[in-house]
Amino acid sequence: MFSKLISKLLKNDIKEKVSPKPVTKKEKTKVAPTRIGELGEYKIDIQLDQLPKNYRYLSDVLLPNKKSKSGYSQVDHIVLTPYAIFVIETKNYAGTIYGDRNRAKWSVNGKFPMLNPFNQNYGHILAVKSFLDGVEDTNVVSMISFNRRATFKVNEELRKIQSNDLIVYDTELSDFIARKINIIKMLNLSALFSDEVIIHMYNVLSKANITDPSTREQHVEKINELKDQKVDANASTEVVNCDKCGKVVSAKIKAFCLSNKNRFDGKIYCFEHQK
Ligand SMILES: [Zn+2]
Repeated sequence: MFSKLISKLLKNDIKEKVSPKPVTKKEKTKVAPTRIGELGEYKIDIQLDQLPKNYRYLSDVLLPNKKSKSGYSQVDHIVLTPYAIFVIETKNYAGTIYGDRNRAKWSVNGKFPMLNPFNQNYGHILAVKSFLDGVEDTNVVSMISFNRRATFKVNEELRKIQSNDLIVYDTELSDFIARKINIIKMLNLSALFSDEVIIHMYNVLSKANITDPSTREQHVEKINELKDQKVDANASTEVVNCDKCGKVVSAKIKAFCLSNKNRFDGKIYCFEHQK
């Protein structure tokens, strides 16, 4: 009976693996001059608010991590549920994402190299786990969330619900979490974490989260420094994208924007959005 149910769910999975919906006009007009990044976060918060009440989530968590070059790990979202912990990394890149789970380097539009986001997120998972007792790798689901301006050309497995590494659109985040939990529920007779344990984990992570603004600012500076070093070494693997539309830009445009701090407020804009 279980296998029937599972195959039914997996069929649904395949059916739902369709190309991204085009952005409707209605959605476009709603996009005021807000930053696309902030909009993405806002959309994800709406998604996470739909989860059952006994689940807990934290967003924008900065955790000390000795193994990270910057000394910290910045985790976009952590969702604590009775059946699994979801660690979510968000990307606001517009374009075609080419990736293979086993390759260290991915690309946007086959042109701009980016680090494999699952490898990056695994570092975040280790940081989260270092604060929690009794959590195994198999209890953690790694999710990379893109907005609808991205198109995926990645391993099919990364879109299948049985995988613990999932690439999703922000609009389908809560749906993927619900379906993932349904699958785990069918294979496990009881929940892994009680409501009390979930609250405890939530409190531990909240306490570990660094909220001090100056430490956070230093972290961002350190990250940018590390990125610049990579640029100098001509081995940049971090995509630079327009703050407004997500379009990937060259290192030259990045340098131009950063050298005009008064005009761009330290942000990076594509040629069109520099006006
Ligand atoms: Zn732009």
